[in-house]
Amino acid sequence: MTSMDLPVDLAVLADDSLYLWAPRGAAGSWGLANCLLITSGNSGNSGTSATEAALIDTPYDTRMTKALIAAAGRVLPEGARVRTVVNTHANGDHCFGNGFFPGAEIISTDASLERHRCGEISPQEMQYLVHASDPREPLGWYARDRFGAYDYTGITVVPPTLTFSGSHDFLVGDTEVRLIEVGPAHTSGDLIVHLPQHGVVAAGDVIFSGDHPAHWEGPLAEVVRACETVLALDPRWIVPGHGELMGQDGVRAYIGYLRDLEGEIKERHGRGLGAYEAACDILAAGFHPSLGAPERVVMLTFVEYHHLGGTGDALGMAELAGHAARWAHARQGVPSRA
Ligand SMILES: [Zn+2]
Repeated sequence: MTSMDLPVDLAVLADDSLYLWAPRGAAGSWGLANCLLITSGNSGNSGTSATEAALIDTPYDTRMTKALIAAAGRVLPEGARVRTVVNTHANGDHCFGNGFFPGAEIISTDASLERHRCGEISPQEMQYLVHASDPREPLGWYARDRFGAYDYTGITVVPPTLTFSGSHDFLVGDTEVRLIEVGPAHTSGDLIVHLPQHGVVAAGDVIFSGDHPAHWEGPLAEVVRACETVLALDPRWIVPGHGELMGQDGVRAYIGYLRDLEGEIKERHGRGLGAYEAACDILAAGFHPSLGAPERVVMLTFVEYHHLGGTGDALGMAELAGHAARWAHARQGVPSRA
């Protein structure tokens, strides 16, 4: 079952103004997304700006969100509250905690709001998959094994209250926050967050670190394009949706991974292999074996095949997870890395 290390304290990225909450678990974990807290600092406590804070992404369940709120409480000035929440996209591990910030403006893209209405797995569906589905079936087994540590009871999805297309800027105290739409890539509605004064970009799940990524929308070329948008901002630090902070070299290496995978998939598509067969073949050949969650390559292959043509409609999240589960289920007892 998924193990979770929920940080008690936020990591300081910039004194009095930028903090990271970075839950961690075993290699190949799902749901442990990075959250950024932007505050207007401790100076000028008499002014209204001293009470402002914005949060980039909210955690996946109640326990995680309460841990984040407790950690934030230790750095926020007295009386300060999170007035603005940004969701980098509509996946639950980046927005299920929205309801714990009552009264906050929740900002995301128009496309992300549309995905909330149609395309995302709800907390109730996750609760069913993890606790009531057939554990002998691959997806039932996989849901328990990889998501069993989460409790989705009491989660009400709160969709964005302010949406945009293209770009949207706002201030937290004196800190400029620039939201740039980069989807469709990881999902249809992705945005990245640029903090020019800090030289930081929060990339959401356009970028993963340490594990194979999951990308639901694709194609991989669009994820590459989104990564190039990150690099064009010339950041000092990039906060991926999951995993450790990286510099620009890390993003370039990640682009290399995406291009490698695109080439491997296209080559097998050209040879007439089916999507599942192609994914098995890529993994059997030892594709980036040091990364966790190799079964995500199966999902990525199905998504890419859809864009390459010949597989009909785009698959939903549960169907894609079902294919990944099938691969992982057949390898129970084999170490979780490929
Ligand atoms: Zn995520």
